Amino acid sequence: MLEGKIAVVTGASRGIGKAIALAFAKEGATVIVNYNGSAAKAEAVVEEICQAGGQAEAVQCNVADFSACETFLADIVKRYKRIDILVNNAGITRDGLLMKMTEEDFDAVIQTNLKGAFNCTKFVSRQMLRQKAGRIINISSVSGIMGNAGQANYSASKAGVIGLTKAAAREIASRGITVNAIAPGFINTEMTEVLPDATKKAAIEQIPLRKFGDVEDVAQTAVFLASEKAKYITGQVICVDGGMAM
Ligand code: NAP
Repeated sequence: MLEGKIAVVTGASRGIGKAIALAFAKEGATVIVNYNGSAAKAEAVVEEICQAGGQAEAVQCNVADFSACETFLADIVKRYKRIDILVNNAGITRDGLLMKMTEEDFDAVIQTNLKGAFNCTKFVSRQMLRQKAGRIINISSVSGIMGNAGQANYSASKAGVIGLTKAAAREIASRGITVNAIAPGFINTEMTEVLPDATKKAAIEQIPLRKFGDVEDVAQTAVFLASEKAKYITGQVICVDGGMAM
């Protein structure tokens, strides 16, 4: 479904980003596996893709750093001549109740989750506008729709990602570029593995399908949004959450 496409997936060294990178490569895309600190894990993702006959490379860039994003993405355009798909997936949590949340914890989450998506969207859309084609997929969260106690910073960042998605979709739709968001619920990854058992149990009670999702559930939604099949969909938020946010 994605033969010959050049795809950039931020935060693809593990979890949901890794699953999206693997799924895109399986569909024929050449994948830029972005990471910040986990070089060995990103190289392992590239190795797995190449072993399966696909094409990929790992590139370090802290998405929270505006000028680093410009350099990173300009280099990809220089070498590959185009970027067809951008997935803004890189994200962090620094949970804590509002009264105890530090300024640093608030800023760090906004800077990576929201500003990081802005940085990459800004520099990639410049190239997509020249191409008059492109797909941007932002990974939000049900926390950005419903809010989540203990996640004021994270919920604000993910609600912001939805606003960014809709504004960007309106701005660049006329140039053949779609911008959509995926809002996962609880997905089995390192991010949710660390949750206390009581929190996991309480979460499952809120999920109509009564279980956490798998990274593949999110990855296949991203493949669909990146494909020709989704060419008339823009500015939407697709929840992959077992019914949690309906
Ligand atoms: P994860 O396992 O913690 O992986 C996060 C990824 O983001 C890693 O590859 C990490 O790479 C990268 N990253 C973090 N900060 C970065 C930065 N500044 N620049 C570049 N890369 C950075 O997380 P996940 O569970 O797969 O989540 C992926 C996305 O889905 C996030 O946006 C998250 O908010 C969202 N989400 C997850 C869930 C869930 O249940 N897991 C639910 C809703 C939404 P390094 O290790 O190299 O830093």
